[in-house]
Amino acid sequence: MKKKLIAGNWKMNGSLTSNEALLQALVAGVADKECLVAVCVPAPYLAQAQGLASGSGIDVGSQDVSQHESGAYTGELSATMLKDFGVRYAIVGHSERRQYHAESDALVALKAQRALASGITPIVCVGETLAEREAGQTEDVVKRQLAAVIHANGHCISEIVVAYEPVWAIGTGKTASPEEAQQVHAVLRGQLKAATQHADRVHILYGGSMNAANAKQLLSQDDIDGGLVGGASLKAPEFLSIIAAAC
Ligand code: PEP
Repeated sequence: MKKKLIAGNWKMNGSLTSNEALLQALVAGVADKECLVAVCVPAPYLAQAQGLASGSGIDVGSQDVSQHESGAYTGELSATMLKDFGVRYAIVGHSERRQYHAESDALVALKAQRALASGITPIVCVGETLAEREAGQTEDVVKRQLAAVIHANGHCISEIVVAYEPVWAIGTGKTASPEEAQQVHAVLRGQLKAATQHADRVHILYGGSMNAANAKQLLSQDDIDGGLVGGASLKAPEFLSIIAAAC
């Protein structure tokens, strides 16, 4: 059985001082834990996170990556630069980027491709809005989003991580029930199975108001292989409780 993966998404939060305290607490708290742990930090703090997490078993991730290799793209972060800082994961297609930066399915697929080419595992986020869920479009939406990534990445698709993040559950305190989440995860697993014989290797994370109280039940579902955790990853005791539930 593969180990669960718990990844924190710090979003645009943190400071040198608060990061140090958080990472020191996490490093102390994850010792001997039998699961995979990562923190996806704001880009200016990659070096700090890499230094503090080094040797602890906590991997460092970025929250985005450019689809371009290098050149005149002001403000962008290339996969090779991220790799220089020991980045293991890159979130791509987070709903906040799809919404505020108009990122399309095709662009997200290119970003995933660029990450993979540099040996970085993309955490590909998919998820429906509340309006789409209420219109009965959940499966169509997540399948469309994942299909673009499968199409662009071919046989490398077993190297990605998928995060199912219902948009209505992100930062709202509302969570998909374990059964609702499992239903969507099973759809995504089926889609991956049609694309690769190694679909069972792929971690499919749940994200959307995961916390210490609901993590165990969500993580006990057959196709939920971990969590992508936003708000709760900023508080060491809460994040460590989620990690404990996963291990
Ligand atoms: C996220 O931003 O990926 C996320 C899941 O946020 P939260 O846990 O705060 O809902």
